[in-house]
Amino acid sequence: MRPDLSSSQAVFAVELLRASAKVAVSVKAQGAFAVHSKEDHSPVTIADMAIQAVAGCLIDRYFPGVPLVAEENATELRRPEGAARLREIVRFTREFIPGASPEDICDRIDRGTSKAAEVFWTLDPIDGTKGYLRGGQYVTALALIRNGKVEFSALGCPELALPGHEKPGAGVILLAIRERGCWASPLCQDGPWERLRVSSCRDITRARILDSCDPGHKNAEKNAFIRNTLGIVAEPVAMDSQAKHATLASGGAEIFSRTPPRRDPAYCEKIWDVAPGAFVIEEAGGCVTDLSGDPIDYGTGNILKNNHGFVATNGVFHGQMLEAIREAVAALRE
Ligand code: AMP
Ligand code: MG
Repeated sequence: MRPDLSSSQAVFAVELLRASAKVAVSVKAQGAFAVHSKEDHSPVTIADMAIQAVAGCLIDRYFPGVPLVAEENATELRRPEGAARLREIVRFTREFIPGASPEDICDRIDRGTSKAAEVFWTLDPIDGTKGYLRGGQYVTALALIRNGKVEFSALGCPELALPGHEKPGAGVILLAIRERGCWASPLCQDGPWERLRVSSCRDITRARILDSCDPGHKNAEKNAFIRNTLGIVAEPVAMDSQAKHATLASGGAEIFSRTPPRRDPAYCEKIWDVAPGAFVIEEAGGCVTDLSGDPIDYGTGNILKNNHGFVATNGVFHGQMLEAIREAVAALRE
């Protein structure tokens, strides 16, 4: 079996994720981040905005009329204090949206503020902005949702080298197509597409666990309790963004879970932080549920309010993880 690379979904995803990597890499190379804090105090750079503008432009070309539900918006860029940043964004999108005015670019960005519908795309232009700024992992994450289920997803990972894809600087692109598997190829140059499969490890004491870098995104106490309960020997490997999901899908780790942090126990995931990565893991043969073992419901708009937390495994360890999480929740009432 091979991925259907001629479908409009695959052509769109490859074009967008290669353009995204070019934008992210050139903003970084020129040191032109122009970091700004959003209302939730998370950082946003001109690369996040420029990539969402390119996505808004390409989606109108490939899928006119289909909503785009994306992380950023142009509200602050439209204010006088945003003018300098907006000029930089126009500069970095020129190759992909020639002749666009600052106003056009804001409109392209705001194409991503559509409401979710029966069919829609979701996008995180740079997932892991903190990793991007720090020289760590970051990805552009994209998924197509139909009736609350993912049908297609893609991750563009400029800094990630998967086993067997270690061309320096090439990065990796993953495409997942419902019932046709998860496939990887170099991101920034043409190369073969290889099917990815999750690890077949069956001994949970040898499991490799992935974790967020950001202490505010995890519950370190519960995670340690879970590792102890399961007898997992190795320390978790910290990584920003859905590069974790790409790593799990390729067999480079067996477990990633997110129990909400102590300071924000009611935290609900955003659709663009989960749908693309979860689907690459599922199409690679893994299993993804919320902390209760329920499937993730992608039919609730931006916020996954029907689910609490997130567990992804190679499938083999899923039941044991859910049980250990239940024990951790009971033992460490906060
Ligand atoms: P990470 O796995 O640490 O790279 O986080 C992935 C994404 O989830 C990022 O886009 C974060 O902004 C978001 N995220 C995860 N947990 C939280 C949280 N507790 N509060 C705010 N954002 C979060
Ligand atoms: Mg994100």
